[in-house]
Amino acid sequence: MERVLRNLLKDGAFHGVPRERSKTMSSIRGRGNRTTELRLRALLIQAGIRGWRIHPRGLVGSPDFMFDLHCVRLVVFTDGCFWHGCPRCAHPMATRGHFWRAKLARNRARDRRAARALRAAGYVVLRIWEHQLSERPMLVVERIRRVLKKLGNRRPSATT
Ligand SMILES: [Zn+2]
Repeated sequence: MERVLRNLLKDGAFHGVPRERSKTMSSIRGRGNRTTELRLRALLIQAGIRGWRIHPRGLVGSPDFMFDLHCVRLVVFTDGCFWHGCPRCAHPMATRGHFWRAKLARNRARDRRAARALRAAGYVVLRIWEHQLSERPMLVVERIRRVLKKLGNRRPSATT
């Protein structure tokens, strides 16, 4: 299982999937954050963190993950640095052209609105940047663990 996931994520590309599906996946990736999402999924599995669902339905902003254990209301977004306008990775294209600046500003505003609405509904919202997942994946895992623990969920730490 672990090996399958690792193969799947090697170089951020999709190895070992049928060509047709790989094509579809790349097109999704072009739109958003498929790679980051898969990376976090693999990390959660590796770390033995349970109780999450991917792409929960009916939530504003379409979070990528939701932890729905007893008394835990946590949603996690994994954001591609480019599309969501990561302040650290500011892509040259995003700071230069007016079109991109405007588009990314709209994306960021939408992200903020979604987070506000989710918080108002009682969720804790975690936003994880693509660069955090590729550079310091274990820090991301620790951050999620800490939040889950704080929210009163003992199961993740029990599995380590
Ligand atoms: Zn970034």
